[in-house]
Amino acid sequence: MQEFDIIIIGAGASGLFMASRATAAHKRTCVLDMGATPGRKVSVSGGGKCNFTNTHADASHYFGKNPDFVRSALSRFTPTDAIDWVKSHGIPVHEKTPGQYFADSAQNIVNALLSDANGATIIQNTRVISVEKNTDTFIVSCENNKKFIAQKLVIATGGLSYENLQTSDIGYKISKQFGHKIIPPRPGLCGIKTQIFDPSLSGISIPVEITIGREKLTDDMLFTHWGLGGPAIYRTTVRDCMDGFTINLLPNCDTFNWLRSQKTTNGKKQLKTILATKIPNKLAEFLSINNTKNIADIRDSDLQTLAQNINNIKLNAQNFSLNGFISAEVTRGGIDTAQISSKTMESKLCKNLYFIGEVLDIAGDLGGYNLQWAWSTANAVEID
Ligand SMILES: Cc1cc2nc3c(=O)[nH]c(=O)nc-3n(C[C@H](O)[C@H](O)[C@H](O)COP(=O)(O)OP(=O)(O)OC[C@H]3O[C@@H](n4cnc5c(N)ncnc54)[C@H](O)[C@@H]3O)c2cc1C
Repeated sequence: MQEFDIIIIGAGASGLFMASRATAAHKRTCVLDMGATPGRKVSVSGGGKCNFTNTHADASHYFGKNPDFVRSALSRFTPTDAIDWVKSHGIPVHEKTPGQYFADSAQNIVNALLSDANGATIIQNTRVISVEKNTDTFIVSCENNKKFIAQKLVIATGGLSYENLQTSDIGYKISKQFGHKIIPPRPGLCGIKTQIFDPSLSGISIPVEITIGREKLTDDMLFTHWGLGGPAIYRTTVRDCMDGFTINLLPNCDTFNWLRSQKTTNGKKQLKTILATKIPNKLAEFLSINNTKNIADIRDSDLQTLAQNINNIKLNAQNFSLNGFISAEVTRGGIDTAQISSKTMESKLCKNLYFIGEVLDIAGDLGGYNLQWAWSTANAVEID
């Protein structure tokens, strides 16, 4: 049985960042990971360029039972700290949209993490299967019969999203064992399956407005073979969307009044021709439902129905489902933050047990918020 001061389960974004801090504090640090290589999600993040932070990171960009939980950790390792850290490794950064920072290559971020965590013992291909606590120590058992012992245990096992890169629910199991509650995990930042549009529209992308509860967001939506995707839908799925949301295909246009006015100005034109002045042809054809009449000959009540189908498309549990963990970029749900200290990430139920990163019931918006969460929570852990 190998003995360390700190064991971190998970060599992902938060685990490696934590390891670098622990080794800097001269702690004997062990990182256990079930995959073949460390930082696998980081290496594919941001389309290979790693969108490692967003300067707009605050509680309004995080979702879970208690988004305010993020305040303390984010205030002590800020997006500016993340940018400085990346630059300190000589990695060029790029502000793609205001506040949204990318590296030149995600692999360079992984290399920076590994170089900082150089003093830690990082053990790959080692799946943790259970944890026991004796009076003062944690004993961590792995699938290959190896056992490790330490006084501090940090759970950095991530969520269930993007299962092709290997995920596990061990973090949830360990937390339950020590009395923690789990908010049921579900995919977030993912596409949705729906049959309300035709698969032939696949590939079309348009700006839409989506209303979820009291929030309205505007972004691009992509029609796919199985339903809908693109940033507008990804951002919707990380929010509280499961009770339903509405899509407006023509934001800032009162479609009914516009179409009615077209009866006088363009009365001899077909509906689809008129729609195609504002949306792609194929979509215009689909929405006009083979109505080949001139617009002047279409009843106002039919235009009203059509306008509803454009400005106020209702999605709910009956007509959409999430595309699953297979392609989700983040997990909504996880370990309830009510029993975790927001200052130190320590369990309030078990001394010297910490939870960091995506395993917690906090999911960030699209745009660099999830990696910022990984860095900030890893930074928050008290090392002594
Ligand atoms: C395709 C994709 C693109 C993304 N792009 C971005 C982006 O650009 N910006 C952004 O902010 N976020 C992005 N994210 C989200 C971000 O990558 C994650 O939120 C972040 O990596 C979570 O960090 P973590 O340390 O909590 O978990 P991870 O980085 O997922 O690490 C968890 C680690 O725990 C290990 N583990 C799990 N179970 C066990 C076990 N039983 N035994 C041993 N080891 C175990 C895993 O092998 C893994 O290495 C993206 C996600 C995906 C899937």
